[in-house]
Amino acid sequence: MKKVLVCGGGGFIGGHLVKRLKNEGFWVRVCDLKHNEFSESPADEFIIGDLRDPLVAKQVVKDIEEIYQLAADMGGAGYIFTGDNDAAVMHNSATINLNIAEEARLAGVKKIFYSSSACMYPEYNQMDPDNPKCSEESAYPAAPDSEYGWEKLFSERIYLTYQRNYGMQVRIARFHNIFGPEGTWTGGKEKAPAALCRKVAETEAGGSIEIWGDGKQTRSFLYIDECLEGVRRLMESDFTGPVNIGSEEMISINNLAKLIMSIAGKDVTIKNIPGPTGVRGRNSDNALIKEKLGWQPTQSLKSGLEKTYPWILEQHKALVEKV
Ligand code: NAD
Repeated sequence: MKKVLVCGGGGFIGGHLVKRLKNEGFWVRVCDLKHNEFSESPADEFIIGDLRDPLVAKQVVKDIEEIYQLAADMGGAGYIFTGDNDAAVMHNSATINLNIAEEARLAGVKKIFYSSSACMYPEYNQMDPDNPKCSEESAYPAAPDSEYGWEKLFSERIYLTYQRNYGMQVRIARFHNIFGPEGTWTGGKEKAPAALCRKVAETEAGGSIEIWGDGKQTRSFLYIDECLEGVRRLMESDFTGPVNIGSEEMISINNLAKLIMSIAGKDVTIKNIPGPTGVRGRNSDNALIKEKLGWQPTQSLKSGLEKTYPWILEQHKALVEKV
């Protein structure tokens, strides 16, 4: 059995990835600061540890053949665009990546997957909500609109140097807004689809919800299962990337809220208020993934939300009952 390590396997994407890797027959070790909040991990070994500590990184890479590196100081717009967490985001995530790259090299790990983000694309190509440009080669000249994006770009380059100088095989994906059940849905680190599902779930029909910005900002959202399919295909391919893993179905945030309302069967009024929003427009460009992997995501946003909204509604009801 191939032994793999999932850094950040106590989080949303990492947690789902662990389940998938176990189903595929891997032996899986996780390292995370915390356990998964919504279900028990099927990992063979779950180490609670802080990857900012090089000794922890050294311990968890031991006897591992492949690493999936998803650990990061991470959150939605309310966390990464306010400016309040910039130093923590930069310091914590960069330290994790420096430690993992170096300890993986010293331990002779063969291959490493790194989860970058669409947040590393330059702001100047994402000013028009109807026509954003996020093709992989448009990354430079670099000008991300957040420190989170700058750190992702820096860490992409760290891993690429380890491939270039030490022959470690590297695979890099740039995720575009991944969503689904068992993702953060409350508390300030949640992202738009989960936040809007929660707002619709907790509001009476005829009431109103607040949306940051004018609501005309656009994004695309990818359901978790398709993200994992892309990750596994990339890992098994001979293509390094960086490559987008995202959906090309772009939608404005106000229309995302309306789609969620239609799934919930509930009409609420949208109040657009000032707040952190990030770039005006963003969409995945899947030309490269189609060319290199002969695959791209195909599920509709609606079908993913139909699985996510009921899960958030259930979480909300459980929380209300507890209080
Ligand atoms: P998440 O916050 O649910 O998972 C990240 C995990 O890393 C958490 O469980 C956290 O406890 C862990 N972690 C943080 N600091 C750590 C440390 N010092 N030591 C050990 N573990 C630590 O986030 P996610 O949505 O699952 O994202 C996973 C990865 O994908 C991240 O690198 C993120 O930047 C990237 N990404 C996610 C999205 C998305 O839409 N969710 C989009 C682009 C990129």
